[in-house]
Amino acid sequence: MQNTISNNNFSKELAHYALEYMSSCNDFGQAVHALLEKVALQYKLNHIAILENKSKLSYLAVTYEWYEDGRRPMLNHVISYSEQFEDFFLDRNGLNTFITYEDNIYFPLLDSIKLLLNKENTNSFTCIPLIFKDKKVGLITFESSLEDYKFTDDEFSSFYQLKNILESYYFMLRSYRETAGLLKQVTMYDSITGLYNYDTFIRESESLLRNASEDSVFALFYADIINFKYFNEFYGYSAGDEVLKIFKQSLSTFHQITMLACRIFSDYFVILANVDKHIDEGRLYLAIDSFNKYFSEKVRIQYPDTTLNVAVGMNIITDKHIGIKTYIDNANKARRRAKSVSKRGIIYNETLDHELKRNILISNLADDALRLGEFYFELQPKYHLKSRQVIGAEALVRWKRSDGTLMYPNEFIPVFEQNEFILKLDFYIYGKVCEYLRERIRHGYEIKPISVNVSRVHLRLEEFVNNVIKLVDFHKIPHEYLEFEITESIFLENAKDAQNAMIKFKNAGFKVSMDDFGAGYSSLNLLKNLDFDILKLDKEFLDAGRIHKKEEIVIESIINMAKKMKIVVLCEGVETKEQADLLEELHCDLVQGYYFGKPMSSEKFDSLMSRIEK
Ligand code: C2E
Ligand code: CA
Ligand code: CA
Repeated sequence: MQNTISNNNFSKELAHYALEYMSSCNDFGQAVHALLEKVALQYKLNHIAILENKSKLSYLAVTYEWYEDGRRPMLNHVISYSEQFEDFFLDRNGLNTFITYEDNIYFPLLDSIKLLLNKENTNSFTCIPLIFKDKKVGLITFESSLEDYKFTDDEFSSFYQLKNILESYYFMLRSYRETAGLLKQVTMYDSITGLYNYDTFIRESESLLRNASEDSVFALFYADIINFKYFNEFYGYSAGDEVLKIFKQSLSTFHQITMLACRIFSDYFVILANVDKHIDEGRLYLAIDSFNKYFSEKVRIQYPDTTLNVAVGMNIITDKHIGIKTYIDNANKARRRAKSVSKRGIIYNETLDHELKRNILISNLADDALRLGEFYFELQPKYHLKSRQVIGAEALVRWKRSDGTLMYPNEFIPVFEQNEFILKLDFYIYGKVCEYLRERIRHGYEIKPISVNVSRVHLRLEEFVNNVIKLVDFHKIPHEYLEFEITESIFLENAKDAQNAMIKFKNAGFKVSMDDFGAGYSSLNLLKNLDFDILKLDKEFLDAGRIHKKEEIVIESIINMAKKMKIVVLCEGVETKEQADLLEELHCDLVQGYYFGKPMSSEKFDSLMSRIEK
C-alpha cells in the first residue's frame, strides 16, 4: 500500500478540529475519544482503537477506543507480541507503513489484534504504528464491517493525519494519563507489576465473559512462584519485586491469546485467557511448561544460583454465567495440589476437592499426632547381594492413628512438605532412630548403620546439617552409624543447597546416599560431580516385574560406571528371585526389597539380626 498523503479536505478539517478540541477541552482523554469518533463516523468504521506499548517490549494494551454500536470500551486488555512485531515494520522499510488485512499472512499477530478488538464483524482492517521520538509507542487500528472493503487512498491519508496529530500530542496524551490517571492507577492496578489488582480483575473479567461470544472458550490460571518466600528473604524485597516483574513479562509466552491478568497479593497471580476452542489438556500443560521455562531462565540470568519455578492450577470455564470467583477457587485448589505433588500444573477436577479435604484433615491432625506418639518408624533391611548378609536398614516413617488405621508416608509426606511439618517430623524420626541405636549400643549388640530420609524442605535451611549433628551428638551416636538418603530430584531442583548439605554430612563423617536414582531425569552428570557413598537405584527400574532387555542395559551401565567411581550401588524394590538373580549377574552390590525383607518393626529387625548373629 502506497501511503501518498493527499491534502484532502477532511484531513485539514481534522487537524483544525483537533487543535481546537485539544486546547479547549480539559479532559484530554475525552478529546482523543472525540477525534477517534470523528474519523470513525466520517468513514463508517465500526471500530477504531489506540493500542499502546505497555512494557519495554512485549505488550500492547488498548488505551482508547470507539465502537460503532456504542459499546463500553474495554480498556487495558492486553495482548502479547514478540520481536516479530518490531521486525515486521523494519522489514517493510521503516515505520511509517500501513498494515492491511492481507498482511495477515506475514504477520499472524494481526489476527490476535483483530480478535481482541472486535470479534464479530470486522471485514476490513488496517493499522498504523504510532511513533514518538523515533520509537514505536503503539498502534492505531481502523476497522470496517463492510464486506470486502478496501480502504481508499483518501481514507488512508486521513488515517495518516490522525496518526500525525496523535503523535504530536503523544507527550500530552501520556502525561495526561500519568497524572489524571494516577488515582485510577493506584486503585485499579498493582503497583509492582502494573497488572490489574484483584477487584479490577474481577470486574473486567466478568464483563469480558459476559460480552464474549457463545462459542469462545476461556481458561483460568492461578499461579504462584515456588519458594518465593525464601528468595525474598535471601535476596531482599527489591529483588523479589524484580522477580514479580519477570513473571509479568513471561506472560508474553501465551502467544496470541487474549488475556486479563492480576496479582492478587504477594506472588499469587490469576490469569484469564481466551483459548483455542479445541484446546486439549495436553496443550494447556505445554503452555504452562513453556511459560515456566521462560520465567525460570529469565530469573536465572539475573540470579544465576537460583532456580525458581511456578505452580499453576487451571480451570476451564465451562459456564460463563457462574461467577468468576468459583473458577478462581477451583484453580487455586488445583494449584495447591500441583505444589504438593511437585508438578508444574494441574487441571482442576472434582476429585481434587475430596483429596484436598483429606489433606486439610491430615494437616490439622499432625501436631497432636506427634505429641501423642502416633508416628514411629519401621526398618527395612538392606542386604549384601552376594553373601545375603544384612548390612543395614532404612528407617521408614509410619503413622498409626488413634482409631487404629495405619497411614503410609506417600499419603502424608507431600502434605507435610507443604505445611513444613516435615521439619519437625523428620527430626522426630532421626531422634527415635538415635534412641534405638543408643539402646543397641548400651546392650553391646552389633550395630548396623541405619539410613534415614531427608526431605527437600530441610535443605533450604542453612542450619540443617548442624542441627542434625547436635541431635546425633546429644544421643552420643557415632556418625558412621547413620546414613542420609537424599533424593535425586533434589539435586536437580536445588543443586547448590543439596550439594552443600551433602558435603557437610560427609565432612561430619556420615554416609550419604542418592535415593531414587533414575526416577526422574536421571542425570548421569550428577554421578561425576558429587561425592556420595551409595547410589540407590529407583524401584521403577524393576517395576515391570521382570527386567526387560533395555532396562537391563541401563542398570548394567549405571552399575559399571558407579563402580569405576567407587560408588556402591543398591537396587531398591527387589520383589522376585528372578530379579535378584539377574542383579547378581550384573554385579549389583546391595539390594533392598520385599523379596529379601519388608519394612518391619525395630523389634523384628533386632530378632532378625540376632538370628543372623547366631
Ligand atoms: P523411599 O525412600 O524410596 O523408600 C522405599 C519405599 O519403597 C518404602 O515405601 C518401602 O516400603 C517401599 N518398598 C520397599 N521394598 C519394596 C518392594 O520390594 N516393592 C515395592 N513395591 N515397594 C517396596 P514407604 O515406606 O511407603 O515410603 C515411601 C516414601 O516415603 C519413601 O520412599 C520416602 O521417600 C518417604 N519417606 C519414608 N519415611 C520417611 C521419613 O521418615 N522422612 C521423609 N522425609 N520421607 C520419608
Ligand atoms: Ca529412601
Ligand atoms: Ca527410594
